[in-house]
Amino acid sequence: ESFHDVAMGEIIMGNITLSRYTRPTPVQKHAIPIIKTKRDLMACAQTGSGKTAAFLLPVLSQIYTDGPGDALQAENGRYGRRKQYPISLVLAPTRELALQIYDEARKFAYRSRVRPCVVYGGADIGQQIRDLERGCHLLVATPGRLVDMMERGKIGLDYLMDLGILHFSVGVEIKKLVGGGVSFSPGSYLVLDEADRMLDMGFEPQIRRIVEQDTMPPKGLRQTMMFSATFPKEIQILARDFLEDYIFLAV
Ligand code: AMP
Repeated sequence: ESFHDVAMGEIIMGNITLSRYTRPTPVQKHAIPIIKTKRDLMACAQTGSGKTAAFLLPVLSQIYTDGPGDALQAENGRYGRRKQYPISLVLAPTRELALQIYDEARKFAYRSRVRPCVVYGGADIGQQIRDLERGCHLLVATPGRLVDMMERGKIGLDYLMDLGILHFSVGVEIKKLVGGGVSFSPGSYLVLDEADRMLDMGFEPQIRRIVEQDTMPPKGLRQTMMFSATFPKEIQILARDFLEDYIFLAV
C-alpha cells in the first residue's frame, strides 16, 4: 500500500514524499481512486482521518495534469486573455480549517504551477482580492466570506468573474462548444468539507447561494465531493441536491 498505487504525476508524488506521507490512510486509500474515476463522492470521515489529502491529492493532480489554465484557455476565446482561473472550489466551515486546507494544498502544489488561494472572514477583503488577482486554480473559502465577496458593493458577481474569482462558467461554455455532448467538463471541482459543521453553523443559505449560482456548472458538469463526519437527514438532502450518481464511502 503506497501512494504509487494511484498515478499522481511526478511533482505531486515528490511533494507527498517531502511531506513524509509514506502510506495512505484508509480514507485516502479508498477516496483517491474513486475521485480519479471522476465520480461524485459522499464520504463520511472524521477530522484527523487524512480527509484533506484525500480530496486535495486527486484534484491537484488532475489540475496539474490538465495543465493549469492552459487547456481550457485555448478553447475559450471569452476567457482567453486570462491565464489562470479557479477551477476548483473548496468550502470549509472555519478560518482555521480553511487555512489548514490551504497550507496542505500549498505543500502538495509546490513547484507544480498550480496556485491555491484562501479567503475567509475577519481579514482584509481587499488583500484577499489582490491575492486572487495574481491567479488562482484552487480556491479555499469559507461560505460567508465568499458570499460577501459576491455581494459587497462594486465587488459584484461580474467583478469577481472578471477577476476570474468565480470562473466556473468555463464548464458550461465548454458544454455549449461541444453541443452538450460531454458528461464532465475537465477542471470543475467542488468540495464541501465538514459539511455537517457548515450546516450546524448556519451556512446552508450561503452554500446554496454559491452552488446554485449561474456561473457554477450544474451537477454532472462538475465533480462534487462532500465530506462530513455524520450523515443526518440534512446532509442527505444536500447530497441529493448537489451530487450526481454518487458513491457513498464511510471509513
Ligand atoms: P486531516 O484529517 O486531513 O485533517 O489530517 C490529519 C493530520 O494527518 C494532518 O496533520 C495531516 O498532515 C496528517 N496526514 C494525513 N495523511 C497522512 C498520511 N498519509 N501520512 C501521514 N500523515 C498524514
